[in-house]
Amino acid sequence: MLLKQFNFHAPKTLESALELYGSLPDVRLQAGGTFLLNSLKMLKRRGAKTPQNVISLAHIDALKGIRMKGDQLVVGAMTNIDEIYDSPFLTGNLNLLKVVAHNISSQLIRNMATIGGNLTCRYTWTEMPAVMVALEAQMHFKGTKGEDEVIGAEDFFKNAAKTDKIFTHVTILRDNGISAAYFRAKKSPYVDIPLLSLGIKTRFVQGKFTETIVAVNNCVAFVQRDRILEEFLNKSRIDQSVPEAALEHLDATIYDARSTDYKKHMFRIGIRQALRDLTGKHA
Ligand SMILES: Cc1cc2nc3c(=O)[nH]c(=O)nc-3n(C[C@H](O)[C@H](O)[C@H](O)COP(=O)(O)OP(=O)(O)OC[C@H]3O[C@@H](n4cnc5c(N)ncnc54)[C@H](O)[C@@H]3O)c2cc1C
Repeated sequence: MLLKQFNFHAPKTLESALELYGSLPDVRLQAGGTFLLNSLKMLKRRGAKTPQNVISLAHIDALKGIRMKGDQLVVGAMTNIDEIYDSPFLTGNLNLLKVVAHNISSQLIRNMATIGGNLTCRYTWTEMPAVMVALEAQMHFKGTKGEDEVIGAEDFFKNAAKTDKIFTHVTILRDNGISAAYFRAKKSPYVDIPLLSLGIKTRFVQGKFTETIVAVNNCVAFVQRDRILEEFLNKSRIDQSVPEAALEHLDATIYDARSTDYKKHMFRIGIRQALRDLTGKHA
């Protein structure tokens, strides 16, 4: 299907992108385009209005790449999922990014989709949000007047991932004392999008879980923390019984939202599996 006509802008610097973004009417940003172009087609099919202007961020080198700055991992918004998977920096707690990148859809999508698009496209089922909340990532934005904003991933998704700025990069602290695990279940064998996903991180101290974060993406609402489960885990010693016992301490409001019995079952499988991974690695 052909798209409705729009003006396509391809600035080479962040400054010119911000200038265009602040001055053009009826404008959308394009990162890898995997979501945007589909949504423009869907709007056309429904006879709805589509934007007059699209600004591509694809030629802005300052938004690309993955590197370490001291003990912080810095991932530019325009870094694609495949580049993340290939990065040599993803060890210790940062390895969770590699696990997720490996799981995301097909090679074709991973070559095009960017971390920026995954975190800001405002679809509730994308997978990087759970990882960012679990790893306490900081998200960095630049506004059209040049102003900087840094917001914790948890707060960004609590506010339904809304922004009127350009997302520039995400930073995550490397911490080799952290253990982390990830689980996702496929929605359908035909199109590989997740039914649910969850990231768990903890710090094992003297045989106990501490500082645990359980970030759950039920793919209906934006990623949420299961604080009831976190509290249970933070009172637990590392023990083979914990993965099973944990299932009695879930915040049902997260798992039951628009869930079928199959999905509720898969959440329990996922939590048990992620906790087995964590405790098994530490045993
Ligand atoms: C068939 C298919 C299967 C998929 N499977 C999975 C999967 O298994 N797991 C998963 O996690 N995801 C999956 N995805 C989603 C894919 O990861 C997203 O399409 C992708 O993350 C969006 O990234 P993009 O770079 O293409 O964004 P685009 O489509 O270019 O952008 C989407 C929107 O994000 C916003 N945006 C993008 N970049 C910025 C920025 N720097 N600053 C501010 N706003 C910005 C804009 O509003 C933009 O319109 C799948 C997608 C498809 C099409």
